[in-house]
Amino acid sequence: MLVLFDIDGTLLHGAPEGHAHAMADAMRTVWGVPVVLDDVWATQPAGRTDREIARLVLRGHSVADVAIDACMREWIDLACRVHAQLANAHPPPVAAPDAQAVLASLKGQGVELALVTGNLEKIGRAKVAAAGLGAWFATGEGGFGSDAELRADLVKLARERASGRYPDDQVVVIGDTPRDIAAARADGVRVIAVTTGAHDAGALAGADAVAPHLTGALEILDR
Ligand SMILES: [Mg+2]
Repeated sequence: MLVLFDIDGTLLHGAPEGHAHAMADAMRTVWGVPVVLDDVWATQPAGRTDREIARLVLRGHSVADVAIDACMREWIDLACRVHAQLANAHPPPVAAPDAQAVLASLKGQGVELALVTGNLEKIGRAKVAAAGLGAWFATGEGGFGSDAELRADLVKLARERASGRYPDDQVVVIGDTPRDIAAARADGVRVIAVTTGAHDAGALAGADAVAPHLTGALEILDR
């Protein structure tokens, strides 16, 4: 089995302040528009890819799509560098209290673990590492917001990058937003939603199951 973990609201709790700052700082530099932090939050970023968030913010500042596309790669590189520079300027990301134990349990059962997140890869991996969870996720695997703008594409990519080949019914996404659910559905795999992020059980009713935390998701997987 392959289990694909979202980061924000799922493996990590709390608002990713340094991440949002890095995205906004790099947008100001690359496109020369006065992006502020509230522009990022105004996109309701939970579940969106970072590239998608940047496009929404920049469109709000009247930047044309062709200009957005022309500098997207430059922005990704700069946002990751700024995030690394800001690492000590913001509270570190906090792992879900049960993340370590749940990942260890799955790994112990021979389950392959990977990340599927809208975060740019270097930022997502830095956050997961800062929270003490980096060792669970192999480099070269997973799907990230730097790989594609559409979250649905990231599940497919993570499956292609996994060390094993898993049929649809052996892949499970764990995430905290309706966008995680839609991405899993688009690739024909199952999804367990956790209510530790921005959404309650009602908003996540489209998942195969909803759990109050990762431990609850593990219990569902074990069944
Ligand atoms: Mg999330």
